[in-house]
Amino acid sequence: MTQTPLTTENLSVTYTGDREIEAVKGISIGFPANRLTTIIGPSGCGKSTLLKSLNRLHEIQPNVKITGDVLLSGNSVYNTDEPTPEIRKQIGYVPQTPTALPVSIYENVAYGLRIHGDYESKTDLDEKVETYLRKVNLWEEVQDRLNAPGAELSTGQIQRLCVARSLAVEPDILLCDEVTSALDPISAESVEETLEELKSEYTIILVTHSMAQARRLADEVVFLYLGEVVEANNVQSFFENPQKERTKHFIGGPTPVESDSSTKLTAATSPTADGGENMFTGAGESSSSEEQ
Ligand code: ADP
Ligand code: MG
Repeated sequence: MTQTPLTTENLSVTYTGDREIEAVKGISIGFPANRLTTIIGPSGCGKSTLLKSLNRLHEIQPNVKITGDVLLSGNSVYNTDEPTPEIRKQIGYVPQTPTALPVSIYENVAYGLRIHGDYESKTDLDEKVETYLRKVNLWEEVQDRLNAPGAELSTGQIQRLCVARSLAVEPDILLCDEVTSALDPISAESVEETLEELKSEYTIILVTHSMAQARRLADEVVFLYLGEVVEANNVQSFFENPQKERTKHFIGGPTPVESDSSTKLTAATSPTADGGENMFTGAGESSSSEEQ
């Protein structure tokens, strides 16, 4: 594993439907190994588009044009003969809305292992399912009902089940899009705890609209605005010593009062890419109750 296993090179993504929209504009950036990088920015700034382009998820959508490249351990993800499933095996994806497959809890985790044939025996499969359920702190909650339908779990448990399902095929990189925004605060907290525990072992890229979550979880922050990277830095420098005016404005400071992290900040009010409401919320807030 290289130090920066995933990089983009002048990556642009354009939706070519009725109205052409260049959602990601020539981004060149690296995601360091075994760190959690958050991609933040207002609604519509291209976060999900950038995230999906990292493992070619746009291929399942028509009318998307991609130029530039993504390099996985130095190898092109786009200009390659490697089949897409192999790339997706190395770069897992956890969507915003957690969905259990219509099979048992056990089979939800075993799914990818069965597809890729990544187990030697039933005992081996059992062990792997347990390992990944433990990794997402779900084992204690479900060990007595592994054969129950996955859909019976709570939304927060299903989100952790989705993370376990992604991890089971042993990716190096995990892409997470707003993975706590559909959850109640308690479930969101348990998913955050899981990510916190996983981040030293995996390269995690987490899209979030929550500044508070970025502060809590991130090692690195990438701030997107209108499809471009405004500023990318380690979490401490990003929040305590932002270099760009737009970043300062966005994180709501620093001013003598607001730079005090114990002070609850009000939402910044910069215009957003889609003219909608800025979804960023109090940078100093410690609860995740602002998620929507
Ligand atoms: P974010 O995740 O930051 O909210 P997105 O990546 O979803 O932003 O969207 C970036 C821009 O691309 C927006 O202007 C959005 O309207 C547009 N967009 C996203 N998905 C599609 C699509 N499937 N077809 C056309 N335009 C899209
Ligand atoms: Mg999005």
